[in-house]
Amino acid sequence: MLTGSPYRVTVICSGEHIRMTGRAPKVYAKTGDNGRTRFQHFCQECGSPLFTSGEGGPDDWGIRWGSVRQRDRLEPSRQIWCRSAAPWINGLKELPGRPTD
Ligand SMILES: [Zn+2]
Repeated sequence: MLTGSPYRVTVICSGEHIRMTGRAPKVYAKTGDNGRTRFQHFCQECGSPLFTSGEGGPDDWGIRWGSVRQRDRLEPSRQIWCRSAAPWINGLKELPGRPTD
């Protein structure tokens, strides 16, 4: 589990719509349950996950929501991996919350 978390929010887009700035990311190749290899790209300085890209397949990039400058304007439109969701995931809204740590 690369996220170490019950959630990962990903923005799917085509590589032609991406403009990267800064240092080139570090890359880790991972083969998924479906046999496809995905490349996981991380910040070289802090290790933050940035995006995924495919190998020889469709040009779909999965950009980590936290690395998108316009993230507040992007709302989720579907969920995947629901079979392995934490059983308590839908009750989070009922928990007391704080604005910061
Ligand atoms: Zn970083």
